[in-house]
Amino acid sequence: MNQVLVLNSGSSSIKYQLLDMADRSRLAVGIVERIGEPGGSASDHAAAMQVVLGELAGTLDRSALAAVGHRVVHGGDRFRGPTLITDEVCAAIKELIPLAPLHNPANLMLIEVARKTLPDTPQVAVFDTAFHQTLPAAAHTYAVPAAWREDLGVRRYGFHGTSHQYVSRRAAALLGRRPEEVNMIVLHLGNGASACAVREGRSVDTSMGMTPLEGLIMGTRSGDLDPAVCAYIARRTGRGAEEIDLTLNKSSGLLALGGSNDLRDVEAAAAKGDANAQLALDAYCYRIRKYIGSYLAALGRVDAVVFTAGVGENSATVRAGAVAGLEHLGISISAKRNTADSKEERYISPYWAETAVLVVPTDEEIEIAGQALALVGGEPAAHTSP
Ligand code: AMP
Repeated sequence: MNQVLVLNSGSSSIKYQLLDMADRSRLAVGIVERIGEPGGSASDHAAAMQVVLGELAGTLDRSALAAVGHRVVHGGDRFRGPTLITDEVCAAIKELIPLAPLHNPANLMLIEVARKTLPDTPQVAVFDTAFHQTLPAAAHTYAVPAAWREDLGVRRYGFHGTSHQYVSRRAAALLGRRPEEVNMIVLHLGNGASACAVREGRSVDTSMGMTPLEGLIMGTRSGDLDPAVCAYIARRTGRGAEEIDLTLNKSSGLLALGGSNDLRDVEAAAAKGDANAQLALDAYCYRIRKYIGSYLAALGRVDAVVFTAGVGENSATVRAGAVAGLEHLGISISAKRNTADSKEERYISPYWAETAVLVVPTDEEIEIAGQALALVGGEPAAHTSP
């Protein structure tokens, strides 16, 4: 019983991976897109699940399938770790829909389909918020009225937890230490982006908040901004809350500043002298630098700064820009190491540096599979945290 099927569903897509956890190999990787759209290959999530199983026919061995691991975006303050899915858990994920109105319904839809399609296989939910449930109250509390906090769940939850957890553990291994022995700042810079302060293996602060909108500048999200901007735009333009929320999530960030949500395009335009693209890059790196500074203060001692995800793993320009000027704080990178062509876990700081600067490719699917397998009593996974 070594196979784990990892499912990650959006409103119109299902990404899947079938992993053999005996040797952590990937047996199949795929995506079913445009669910419910004209010309798409599936009319709904149930039909899409059949497409997935069809694509896995010949690879998936049901007698060897130990678990299905579902990525679930929002676990609120209820889920602190991987959770075996029951009717009660489904009801709880449903109750959390107001906090994640786009993501949780899509996750739940696929969970329900998968439970029906593979009724004999344990289904495990792995929440994007769970790793951040260790944030102290001082870090997760917003200074807003008690009724908002207590009745409406307004607080910082944080996201990308599966990635931060995986990457911080791998980074500790690269340092030759146990996670409990090190403090680090993890920078997950992908299309979505977040920073995480990890003290002795636990998340103690993170830049995304009640929703993924807060924090760093992202592909299409603004990140931090004065909340009064929303009321101001509403007054000046007559736009409603939903439209402003959509603009800040889908039409802001690098896209709004530099003309593309893909950092490669922004870098190429900046290299050709496009001033807007250069400003986008500068603002993007400056925001990361500010978070590094605040997490140095939050942690006191930092053993490593770790870059991960599409931008963090691939853009030497952003890595250099993010830590520029931090030498007096013990953080610097070697230009040669930073620009070396590598997909491996690696150091990019010079050998004499006080604080290690690392690049660690993320792997959320392996983390989800490992947590799911450990929960159902498969291989005791050295790669999961307590
Ligand atoms: P992710 O969400 O982790 O898949 O990351 C996606 C982002 O990574 C995209 O916005 C790309 O701009 C960025 N990315 C991927 N490859 C590169 C690269 N070689 N250089 C710069 N950015 C990259």
